[in-house]
Amino acid sequence: MSATLDRDGTRPSEGAPARKRAVVIGAGFGGIALAIRLQAAGIATTLLEKRDRPGGRAYVYEDAGYTFDAGPTVITDPSALEELFEAAGRSMSDYVELLPVSPFYRLCWEDGRAFDYVNDQAELDRQIERFNPKDVEGYRRFLAYSKDVFREGYEKLGTVPFLSFRDMVRAGPQLARLEAWRSVYSKVAQFIEDDHLRQAFSFHSLLVGGNPFATSSIYALIHALERQWGVWFPRGGTGALVSGLVRLFTDIGGRVEVSAEVAEITMDGQRATGVRLKDGRAFPADVVASNADVVHTYGNLLGGSDRGAEEAKRLKAKRWSMSLFVIYFGLKTHRPDIQHHTVCFGARYRELVSEIFKGRSLPGDFSLYLHNPCVTDPSLAPPGAGAFYVLSPVPHLGNADIDWEREGPLYRDRILDYLEARYIPGLKADLATCRIFTPADFKSELNAHLGSAFSLDPVLTQSAWFRPHNRDAKVPNLYLVGAGTHPGAGVPGVVGSAKATAGLMIADVKAN
Ligand SMILES: Cc1cc2nc3c(=O)[nH]c(=O)nc-3n(C[C@H](O)[C@H](O)[C@H](O)COP(=O)(O)OP(=O)(O)OC[C@H]3O[C@@H](n4cnc5c(N)ncnc54)[C@H](O)[C@@H]3O)c2cc1C
Repeated sequence: MSATLDRDGTRPSEGAPARKRAVVIGAGFGGIALAIRLQAAGIATTLLEKRDRPGGRAYVYEDAGYTFDAGPTVITDPSALEELFEAAGRSMSDYVELLPVSPFYRLCWEDGRAFDYVNDQAELDRQIERFNPKDVEGYRRFLAYSKDVFREGYEKLGTVPFLSFRDMVRAGPQLARLEAWRSVYSKVAQFIEDDHLRQAFSFHSLLVGGNPFATSSIYALIHALERQWGVWFPRGGTGALVSGLVRLFTDIGGRVEVSAEVAEITMDGQRATGVRLKDGRAFPADVVASNADVVHTYGNLLGGSDRGAEEAKRLKAKRWSMSLFVIYFGLKTHRPDIQHHTVCFGARYRELVSEIFKGRSLPGDFSLYLHNPCVTDPSLAPPGAGAFYVLSPVPHLGNADIDWEREGPLYRDRILDYLEARYIPGLKADLATCRIFTPADFKSELNAHLGSAFSLDPVLTQSAWFRPHNRDAKVPNLYLVGAGTHPGAGVPGVVGSAKATAGLMIADVKAN
């Protein structure tokens, strides 16, 4: 997978001024989105990925005719994706088809109650009323709050790099007005009384690695974001979206190298000069951006420099988001009665979340997210069959140093038993294929610090200016993109970070 032509498909003419070169380390959504923006702006960009295919957390497994998206499945804010195609002068519809998903999620509790979270106000009202009539009005006030935060936090600040404390001070009055110091849950609880509904409208921050009881209420914006643009799924799976974006990048002349693990960001004094791969190949560049984990970037790739060692130490002392345990399993039969996205709440909420974020061992119970994409796109499994995944949030390795090689198969069986008893009768007899991904895999496969699935915990004191900056403070031509920088994890977050980082890189390249 490699192409080195110019944007218009020709080789650079002799005598023309040499084009500036960029290297992007890591082909997660953030790295790919950044590479597209840089290449589209005329910077000759090379994207280097450690694994054998691009996608990062959005990797794809193909087992026995089943296609499993490894990570993101809830695709929101399609306009942020459209923008990438527009920046490259192309149309998204020529590369990817997005299918609407409804309900957005089915939320289920162990007492047998369920809530279909849909984008139809009358239907939502009807369902809320069944839980607690007073909450119909409370929900309206929550939605108004969520829309307000969405405008301020996402539309205005989501793609703006916070490089100086002044930027933070400028945002201060709005953050204060929105009571950003309060948690998502406490804000929801201010509007909504019913315990189930409080869970239904606060669990969203978990989707980007935030504890609803600790993450800033700014993350309540996810609700408005989903209501505004809907929930989507690419035909062919999230992997098809990754492939479409990579094709866009190579179509405009970008170069992608997979199985290309960067060992070092090379330096000359205080400037980055490019990267060197583990296999010894060197890629000189005028500007370097890392989409890899931020501790890995500073501690390993820049580990030989004072800057790398100092920043890695500072970042290791931060709070890290939870990890995940994921089971990808194929069934011989399709189960159309299970929605595309199902959240299976366990008996405990606050206590369980606290054990996931702070506990020193694996909790005895769980809450699960169950993915059944074949209800939207049957092509992901053989005819008449179903491709699923189920994930359980678990503590990261720094909090609970679990021997996942031993524990993984036991935990898998507990989860599959639970699913069989409550959601998928006959599951085990129907299994055609099954694989797991544990916190230890996040660490070894993705170089994720402590095996965290979402990088730094998105609490207020680790957000915006307090998050690692999109441009390094001391190495002026080194940049970050992805979940570890502003604004944070989630596909819209990392695609937003790419916009913020690309703006800086393009301006810096033009100025030099
Ligand atoms: C199971 C799961 C489900 C999720 N579900 C959703 C969802 O439904 N919706 C949503 O919006 N978000 C979801 N998320 C979050 C979202 O997937 C991530 O926040 C986002 O994809 C991270 O993108 P990123 O750009 O930070 O890069 P990553 O995906 O983290 O990619 C970084 C890349 O860098 C590579 N790399 C690391 N070190 C090196 C090196 N030395 N040299 C070269 N390459 C290197 C890695 O191999 C990797 O490919 C989910 C996450 C997980 C794990």
